Amino acid sequence: GSVMEKVLQRRSMRMRNMQRAWQESPEGRTMLEFRKSLPSFKDKERLLQAIARNQVIVVSGETGCGKTTQLPQYILESEIESGRGAFCNIICTQPRRISAMAVAERVSAERGEPLGETVGFKVRLEGMRGKNTQLLFCTSGILLRRLLSDRNLNGITHVFVDEIHERGMNEDFLIIVLKELLPRRPDLRLVLMSATLNAELFSNYFGGAPTIHIPGFTHPVKAHFLEDVLEMTGYKLTSFNQVDDYGQEKTWKTQKQLMPRKRKNQITSLVEEALSKSTFESYSSRTRDSLSSWMPDCVGFNLIEAVLCHICRKERPGAVLVFLTGWDDISSLRDQIKAHPLLGDPNRVLLLMCHGSMATAEQRLIFERAPPNIRKIVLATNMAEASITINDRRGRAGRLLPGECYHLYPKCVYEAFSEYQLPELLRTPLNSLCLQIKSLQVESIAGFLSAALQAPEPLTVQNAIGFLKMIGALDEKENLTDLGKLLSILPVDPKLGKMLIMGAIFHCFDPILTIVSGLSVRDPFLLPQEKKDLALSAKLRFSAKDYSDHMALVRAFEGWKNAEREGSAYEYCWRNFLSAQTLQAIHSLRKQFNYILKEAGLVHDDSALNNKLSHNQSLVRAVICSGLFPGIASVVHRETSMSFKTMDDGQVSLYANSVNSRFPTIPYPWLVFGEKVKVNAVLIRDSTGVPDSSLILFGGALSTGVQVGHLKMLDGYIDFFMDPNLADSYVKLKEELNKLLQK
Ligand code: ADP
Ligand code: MG
Repeated sequence: GSVMEKVLQRRSMRMRNMQRAWQESPEGRTMLEFRKSLPSFKDKERLLQAIARNQVIVVSGETGCGKTTQLPQYILESEIESGRGAFCNIICTQPRRISAMAVAERVSAERGEPLGETVGFKVRLEGMRGKNTQLLFCTSGILLRRLLSDRNLNGITHVFVDEIHERGMNEDFLIIVLKELLPRRPDLRLVLMSATLNAELFSNYFGGAPTIHIPGFTHPVKAHFLEDVLEMTGYKLTSFNQVDDYGQEKTWKTQKQLMPRKRKNQITSLVEEALSKSTFESYSSRTRDSLSSWMPDCVGFNLIEAVLCHICRKERPGAVLVFLTGWDDISSLRDQIKAHPLLGDPNRVLLLMCHGSMATAEQRLIFERAPPNIRKIVLATNMAEASITINDRRGRAGRLLPGECYHLYPKCVYEAFSEYQLPELLRTPLNSLCLQIKSLQVESIAGFLSAALQAPEPLTVQNAIGFLKMIGALDEKENLTDLGKLLSILPVDPKLGKMLIMGAIFHCFDPILTIVSGLSVRDPFLLPQEKKDLALSAKLRFSAKDYSDHMALVRAFEGWKNAEREGSAYEYCWRNFLSAQTLQAIHSLRKQFNYILKEAGLVHDDSALNNKLSHNQSLVRAVICSGLFPGIASVVHRETSMSFKTMDDGQVSLYANSVNSRFPTIPYPWLVFGEKVKVNAVLIRDSTGVPDSSLILFGGALSTGVQVGHLKMLDGYIDFFMDPNLADSYVKLKEELNKLLQK
């Protein structure tokens, strides 16, 4: 003990000497001057005292006032100055990887040290920290995982949970676990940091913890909304006015009502879609008889392009940050900008991208300054919106300079966003949420959720647990099965995740990858009202008596890949009524899922091996069934018609766009489907015909082998599908199944 103590004391002395030397150096002084100019500096003593005297405090202050970079640093500095530097151990969490890295880098620079010395970072699969690291910036996910194996956070003296106002799921989880831990570690200090004034909510959660608000200035940000943007970019205003003819009030009211249940980015695309449908589409289909006339996204991009040109023509310096909803949007816009006469000119525009799945080195590029006279344009997902500071940025937040912000949606929608932003915990589909909670090695999901700041309805939680048991992700005692463990690491709906895993195990990965990506994105088959029949027969050409919309999707996608190789993708989409945009999105999602499954060790590097059985139709059918169960309907044939009955005894009809709606009879006893939609009747969207055997073996908890937990065992069933006669030995199970369905 005392030897260790001595070592730490000596190190603390060294740290103090180095800190003083830096603070007295010219660069150090300049840096200190800058730091003193931040609003948080005035409250430094007040903050340090509050932290010393209370186990928990909540700090609020506007973006840019110096919470993240300064507060943990104040603690570090004062500990070092008092000669206890090597004894403190500070963790500050960030919701996103990129902010954890950027902030650690910034704080190191403010201390005149290389990253990984006193200040380090740790994010999944990456990190820089050393034996001298006393302040660690990490993602909230990293701290959560650490808490699993180290329930008392031994050795940690201070925990900062940042951006708590965003109500990210990991942050909400963290405060549940930390709240439970605090009584066991009375010396541990917890600081919650928020950019908004809703500190009361968190303060109450922690039994009335003190709140401190940092008053501050921010640079003015001028906001422009769609109404203004249309006007200044000279986009056809007449077409927007048409909205009035349709009744603008009414249109936006409907959008608002939808909002609470939808995510922000879904709303954006929803609005874009609505806009392009009601206004631009009618405008463009008359003037340009091209593919884009019924592809709303293109219109959205044209508008962004017009705004960018507008900004680039202006004299003011600064960079442009464009926020889009996902990687596919970013890459489409990139291609479009590159082809543009003004924006595509590398002597005028430096085009960069920023996305969560990009490599770190690539992400760092966005922080570099553009050469003089070159406009930097950064295309980013909204994940970057809140938490990174780019030095010459002016778009969103105005942290460093006054800025301007162009919202490509109307003002009323913007207002509705802020009103209805739900905590992630309440927005996340419950099935995924429950799996996430179980992966924290929590005993009882319901018990855990009851300790949350805000929790979903207990009854719906019970339903989700029941569902997870049914698909074999949880066992009877609510413990994760092997399958459940795998599903909890896949960022996809558990049903679809199961389909992916089964596709991987049964070596028919490629078609399943396409189907799961397609179901996660949207249907690439277009159905323009005026050309319905043509579009449907085009889809049927992909179906070849498969009785499967899912397989039609696989064929259409493969055809598109081929056409792309031959340089005829455009014609291909046009001819077959397919959305190139959607196919592109499916393509990039496929890549992401493929990467994740490889990382999880579920698929091999060898694609031929992964697809050894991809040609086996019955197998692919069965795997589709494994994922979509309990979305099944029995096919009831009448003399002249068919009807469909679901397990809960509901009567369903087929969507007009389904290939199965085109046949007088379907030679399968069952249809499996992904989604039920209630319009006038209950409709099922995409469906696939399956035989009894698929259902018996792969239909959730009714199955034998797929009482998972024994994934390896499943290999034996491959033989089964090679020899369909074997199915007869399962007659008994089949009867059982029928009984169940007749109930
Ligand atoms: P908050 O967490 O309150 O939003 P930060 O601590 O992130 O604020 O930033 C405080 C200030 O530090 C910013 O307003 C900015 O002036 C400066 N800053 C932050 N990050 C950087 C950086 N990477 N480069 C230069 N200055 C930065
Ligand atoms: Mg911050």
